[in-house]
Amino acid sequence: MKTQLEKLQAGEIQSIKCNESEALAIISSDGTAEFGIEEMDLPDGTSLRYTNTGDTYSEALCSIDGGDWFLSCWGDCYESAEQSRYEETGEQCCCYCGEFAELEEHSAKNWHGWACQSCRENH
Ligand SMILES: [Zn+2]
Repeated sequence: MKTQLEKLQAGEIQSIKCNESEALAIISSDGTAEFGIEEMDLPDGTSLRYTNTGDTYSEALCSIDGGDWFLSCWGDCYESAEQSRYEETGEQCCCYCGEFAELEEHSAKNWHGWACQSCRENH
């Protein structure tokens, strides 16, 4: 385990020791190092670790449930997990209340669309 960044080629990945915890560094094309590992729980129950590059859809190194690191972005990982949850449970994230709930179809006399079973908002 290294304790300091060495000069690396652009795009190289290096494991470093940072504040007693392991972190990975990714070297940008301009030679600067970006690192800092964030962790979040995904909607499908898995846990995501990713290099915080400051934007939802900017390239980041991602690892799910401690698996190998791969290049993606946390936004894509989150959306993929949302889709997995929907396929397994039929639940979707309500854009009104933020809860995961099944959306039920309205009867013909009601508004067209779907209602959230959590907050009852129409979609
Ligand atoms: Zn809702």
